Amino acid sequence: MTPSPRLLLTIDYESWFALSRKYDNLSSTERFELDDSYSRNALDPILEKLKDAKTSIYLVGEMVGWYPELPQKILDAGHEVGFHCQVHRPLTSISEIEHDLHMSSAWRKKYKVRGFRAPMINTVEGVYPILERNEIAYSSSLYAPTGTLLRKGNIWELPVSTFPLLGHPKNIRAPRRMNMPLVLGGEFPYGSSMMSGLFPRIVFKIIEREMKAGLSPVIFLHPYEIVPPERWPARFARDLAANPLLYPFTLSKLSFLKELLGSFPTSTLADFINESTQ
Ligand SMILES: [Zn+2]
Repeated sequence: MTPSPRLLLTIDYESWFALSRKYDNLSSTERFELDDSYSRNALDPILEKLKDAKTSIYLVGEMVGWYPELPQKILDAGHEVGFHCQVHRPLTSISEIEHDLHMSSAWRKKYKVRGFRAPMINTVEGVYPILERNEIAYSSSLYAPTGTLLRKGNIWELPVSTFPLLGHPKNIRAPRRMNMPLVLGGEFPYGSSMMSGLFPRIVFKIIEREMKAGLSPVIFLHPYEIVPPERWPARFARDLAANPLLYPFTLSKLSFLKELLGSFPTSTLADFINESTQ
């Protein structure tokens, strides 16, 4: 059955420093200190801003260790808790993916987590059998045109939305991440918060158009784009100097979010997939 069109708004719930690869190899305790309670304090204001809209919030598991109340708060507010990886870093080697799922199994079981979003929307085809063995039901870890819903073994893949300018791509396989081949292939990855940072009006218009065509766009935001950390983005200035492409991720998307929530119905990805596959 084709579900009614809705905005599939997701939040990759990670700390403010997760944009940069500089902190990947610190100890978890060092990252906890860097986070400085930001991820604990940002959740309530974010849930308030979402009001009645239902979203999928993909948690970095390491943070569940730091702030054990996060998953239940998200569930109590009516959202879906998903899994964004245990430690936020590039996760494309099979052995590291297996290790990451193993490390996160206790909290994922406790909160019945069924959805996976790969860090940096970058994964490999080999991820799907591993997800299946770890009781994950779906993934949202590729970029592909809105309306794509793929079966990968027993796992559903519901990609982050792109708008194809040069025709529909064939043979959609991982990795499909934000890189030059994707963009040169004519796909505008409007589901990424990089694009809603740079071109919020254009992204809003595309979402409107896709929904009028009966499609359900998948887009993502980050906590630091909704509730800015203290001294933001000054505390991230060195990382921005090293990688200016990160700049759009530091822009506030609060007014964009408010406009989306005022204009479109939403649901979790889990609900959308259930309705699509009945
Ligand atoms: Zn992330």
